[in-house]
Amino acid sequence: MFGPSTVAARRMLKRTAIQSGLEAVSLVSRSGLMSGARGMGAIFTLHHVRPSIQKDFDPAAHLTITPEFLDASITRLKDDGYIPVALADLPDFLAQPDRPGPAMVFTLDDGYRDNDQHARPVFEKHGVPYTIFISGGFVDRTHSIWWETAEQLLSQVDEFTFDFGNGQETLATRSLIEKYAAFDRLNTALVCAGQEATVERLDEQARAAGICPTGIVDREVMDEAELRQLAATPLAHLGAHTISHLNLAHLNADRMRSEVIRSAERVAEITGEKPSTLAYPYGDRSAAGPREYQAAQALGFKLAVTTNPGTLQGKSLENLFSLHRISLNGYYQKCRYVGALASGIPFALSGSAQG
Ligand SMILES: [Zn+2]
Repeated sequence: MFGPSTVAARRMLKRTAIQSGLEAVSLVSRSGLMSGARGMGAIFTLHHVRPSIQKDFDPAAHLTITPEFLDASITRLKDDGYIPVALADLPDFLAQPDRPGPAMVFTLDDGYRDNDQHARPVFEKHGVPYTIFISGGFVDRTHSIWWETAEQLLSQVDEFTFDFGNGQETLATRSLIEKYAAFDRLNTALVCAGQEATVERLDEQARAAGICPTGIVDREVMDEAELRQLAATPLAHLGAHTISHLNLAHLNADRMRSEVIRSAERVAEITGEKPSTLAYPYGDRSAAGPREYQAAQALGFKLAVTTNPGTLQGKSLENLFSLHRISLNGYYQKCRYVGALASGIPFALSGSAQG
């Protein structure tokens, strides 16, 4: 998702670093020098999957890939010997002494409707299982998606008055650079404590500008009937992603546990069975730590995924509640990058995958 302090310049620098890392690794991997680096496979994170739309202000571009890129990625990974594995089956797969190849595991966060429209046909074409992590508050339209609200609001206003935590401030949001800077300020404010109140203030501002934040959710995210239908197809699985999509590390222990428990119950109401998998919202080290990992285990999940970048390694079986993932990222939609991404090396070179 959005990591802390994504100042536009830093974001650009980091993107360039990852990109040159990807180019280097893709060169090396084609020369066959890297066969040991891919470890036991990778869990990929996707969000939106949809045809590309040219937008000037597109702060969530890294959360969007095209169906063609997904198709090409799966083809490339299969050619490289990766074996499709459903997330819930991963512990058994990893425990096999004679695995037929590294695992490719696909996960999609937040339950966007385009997952059904544009990703499902690709997964079905290739016979690849996938897990969609849903937040109960999005499914039921009781909670907004702050980054979608912010994108729409900032794209249409020339000035943005907001309390980022130090009283009201007015930012110019006329130029693209100003809009990105305001988005970054919101992102930074939202990784701090008090996220719920900040989102509520953002929703108020949006409503005052004629935008309905839960209307955006209704437009973008699958509802219960759609999820039930999708979950009945053989390759689709649903996992828990809390109710309110808050940074769990900032909640008190009771609230944190209740977010997780209620979201598992909500998934069970839709699919008829308790989910075995959980994704921590935002999912980096600032959003989930040992307290959350232990809660996920104690609450009966089989495994839980973070957004900390990395491949599957031998030690993954001992860390099933803090599994790393690799973002199939809208910035790097080149087929030759996929093998390099799956190796995990570019993240080691650049420090972090999350923008
Ligand atoms: Zn999410």
